[in-house]
Amino acid sequence: MSMNNHGRPTGTGTSGFASTSGSALLPNEPLLFEIGDTEHSGVDLPDVTIATDRLGGFERRMPLDLAGLTEPEAMRHYVRLSRLNHSIDSGMYPLGSCTMKHNPRLNEKMARLPGFADIHPLQPVYTVQGALELMNQLSHWLMTLTNTAAVALTPKAGAHGELLGMMAIKAAQDAAGQGHRKVVLVPESAHGTNPATAAFLGYSVKAIPARDDGTVDVQAVKDALSADVAAIMLTNPNTCGLFEPQVIEIAEAIHDAGAFFYCDGANFNAIMGVVRPGDLGIDAMHINLHKTFSTPHGGGGPGAGPVVLSKALAPFAPVPFVRKDGSGLELVEHAEGDALGRITAFQGQMGMYVRALTYMLSHGGDGLAQAAQDAVLNANYIKARLAHAFSVPFGDYPTMHEALFDDSFLAGTGVTTLDFAKALIDEGFHPMTMYFPLVVHGAMLIEPTESESKQTLDRFCDVMEELAADAKAGNAARFTAAPLKAPRRRLDETRAARSPILKWERAEETLKAAE
Ligand SMILES: *Cc1c(COP(=O)(O)O)cnc(C)c1O
Repeated sequence: MSMNNHGRPTGTGTSGFASTSGSALLPNEPLLFEIGDTEHSGVDLPDVTIATDRLGGFERRMPLDLAGLTEPEAMRHYVRLSRLNHSIDSGMYPLGSCTMKHNPRLNEKMARLPGFADIHPLQPVYTVQGALELMNQLSHWLMTLTNTAAVALTPKAGAHGELLGMMAIKAAQDAAGQGHRKVVLVPESAHGTNPATAAFLGYSVKAIPARDDGTVDVQAVKDALSADVAAIMLTNPNTCGLFEPQVIEIAEAIHDAGAFFYCDGANFNAIMGVVRPGDLGIDAMHINLHKTFSTPHGGGGPGAGPVVLSKALAPFAPVPFVRKDGSGLELVEHAEGDALGRITAFQGQMGMYVRALTYMLSHGGDGLAQAAQDAVLNANYIKARLAHAFSVPFGDYPTMHEALFDDSFLAGTGVTTLDFAKALIDEGFHPMTMYFPLVVHGAMLIEPTESESKQTLDRFCDVMEELAADAKAGNAARFTAAPLKAPRRRLDETRAARSPILKWERAEETLKAAE
């Protein structure tokens, strides 16, 4: 063991730090606390002698629980960790319903302009007129693309937008003396966030079955309607990748019953610039800017889920919002009339607004429509190329932006959807979405997006075909053992979910010694 000039031991310790050598460039990366230790600083600071305590007895008694690392140590740790991840920048990421498309670098460049990146939410509004103008333009694009009357930019995720949209519906019904409506209809194929949102707001959820062709059973919607129903939460295109053919009939039935139509717009990438949801009769819809309008996502944020609102719900839009007055743009921060209060502390994810508007302006209206059409074309290409080897549950309709397969092609092979997805990791692809939507047994949901080239799609399809053939040829072991080439093998996912270790804990003895 050697010491560096801070007296900190380096090299092999009991913590297994030596592991950064030994497995070349895919180390078993230790924790920061195992690389460094908490008693030393990674930088040279003069010793401090405190003559008089000016903290009123509140000075720290125990070491600060942060690992003291030098800049290169800290940087290498995070760079090494980043290499353990699959990302859209390292390979195809066909995760259905997540729209993992390329994030143009132009967006990043614009988001880093100091006039956007360095402003503070509490700055006087006359100093941030450009930022407000950008928010105003983004609102205009979102309302134009959806043919709606208002937009709330602030929600920070799709699920957050769902909550806001349903709060607006609740407020509108309370204002109209319809507060007794306590039921929300949710089709079986819905994303889990839909029933969760309704339940969170105190509604009871009534499931609407899917028809054999994967679309919502319109008769079942009509049968479920009553004076107790507040709203339907419907995804279109739905999570089977299908455009609901009777969506207008559903909207009319909902409105005739005095209820509202909430649309989960997470799949807007399939229809932007082609269909305006307002024309279909929706009252509220969130748009995942991080999906459709290309902010890097999948790593936990940031997200943005603006909600567009119909005329009936517009008065209930939350604050803050941007309003043009004679001399410039103002930020309306206090609720007037029926407006809801705030759903976020400040104005939302400014960096994402910049990325989204950059994406819109660089594509133009026609370019957005082209992107949607290409996304649909790519998904149908995959569906057509793989249909002979995989099982297609709903073959009656062309698909929208994603191709859905079930696991019946694996019957008798001893290979499950999970095994199949794990084998795909060994081939360098991120797995597709598995076991969702729930209406299909052993679902595999593949969303290639418009940003993959035909060569990439072909390489992906070649691998998928080869895997399907190998499974059918009886080579189950390749699948059940996979992944073999990933930094981690199969995880105990139940334990990881039930008892995650999220925080480094100082060993008991050190705590005692410090007392
Ligand atoms: C992604 C998604 C959501 C949730 O969006 P978040 O930003 O992850 O909260 C909701 N519904 C559908 C259909 C989605 O694909």
